[in-house]
Amino acid sequence: MNTIYFDHAATTPTDPRVVEAMVPVFQTHFANASSTHEPGARARVLVEDGRRRLAALLGAQPEEVYFTSGGTESDNWALKGMAAARPRGKDHCLVSAVEHHAVLHAAERLKRLGVAVELIPVDAVGRVDPWEVAQRIRPTTFLVSVMHANNEVGTIQPIAAIGALCRERDIPFHVDAVQTVGHIPIDLATLPVDLLSLSGHKFYGPKGVGALFIRTGLRIQPLMDGGGQEGGRRAGTLNSPGIVGLGAAAHIAAAELAPAATRVAVLRDRLLTGLHAAIDGVALNGCPAERLPGNLSVRFAGIIEPLLQGLLAEAGVACSSGSACTSTIRKPSHVMVAMGLPPEASYASLRFALGRSTTPEEVDHVVIATHRAVEHARRAT
Ligand code: PLP
Repeated sequence: MNTIYFDHAATTPTDPRVVEAMVPVFQTHFANASSTHEPGARARVLVEDGRRRLAALLGAQPEEVYFTSGGTESDNWALKGMAAARPRGKDHCLVSAVEHHAVLHAAERLKRLGVAVELIPVDAVGRVDPWEVAQRIRPTTFLVSVMHANNEVGTIQPIAAIGALCRERDIPFHVDAVQTVGHIPIDLATLPVDLLSLSGHKFYGPKGVGALFIRTGLRIQPLMDGGGQEGGRRAGTLNSPGIVGLGAAAHIAAAELAPAATRVAVLRDRLLTGLHAAIDGVALNGCPAERLPGNLSVRFAGIIEPLLQGLLAEAGVACSSGSACTSTIRKPSHVMVAMGLPPEASYASLRFALGRSTTPEEVDHVVIATHRAVEHARRAT
């Protein structure tokens, strides 16, 4: 039985063109990109090409792109690096209640170190109201962090409006864009964002490589101590194959993003329509209008045990019951709780994350498999 992969928000397959670009960096141009000899210089050219390609996708300057090991490191660096660089007397930090744990747990650590961390609430569809941010900003606020789109329910946040009000008050603004880079347009030339996290494996690039965009002139401390790579801001031998792969993924996304987003959104809507037609008591989690093209999070009335994901896995459908990190722990999703949903809503929910290779036939098959799984779970409840 071939598995239907509907978990592209957890990770994407690496595009064969990305793999092809990486192979020579493992085998031929393997030299350390910091070495001063000829092979090192050649590896450096490839790394800088990757940086330029990623910067081009983001509308950033190449020197504003710092390579990391992925989204988790970028988020940790943004929060902890800004906390370490904060001016004396500034001890307040705002993060949205629906952030990924890479942000929330980093914020909790800052709390233990004496930072006043305050959560920004969301509405019933998971949106942060910019007014709620404005209300909470204090003279002591040194950072605001709000993600671009949520990994569980796909809701897209009004980051331009939040960034504008932060800029008016001269407060640095961090955006976790791990779910959006390569999927929806981002133009840092116009967006009032100071720090932006991204990860290669979420848009058909390799795992274990990502970046943090740091706007020119921003003061931030490094997270890693060691050598002088990345202008002394991020120590560690550069992951040159990963960086070349990340650059290739960015280059492909820049060319293909718009038609891919349109195509996948049509399939996502076909899935929702099919589920509504086949099953009673289906409700959408998240925002009906402002959401990721490939994300469909739905809940089914009458289910109080987390059975659905396992039943679909048995039927050959790989999807998620929440975020991948929490799928084995029986704990309601913090995102759905923040949206005001009861704990059972998390257990009765499935996240389908469609991708570039998804077909209409797969969508129709998933509707049938979900119908059977829901009937089964309802009988078992
Ligand atoms: N932020 C968000 C919104 C994510 O969805 C993820 C991964 O699921 C991360 C951060 C962590 O990224 P990485 O897997 O590259 O560490």
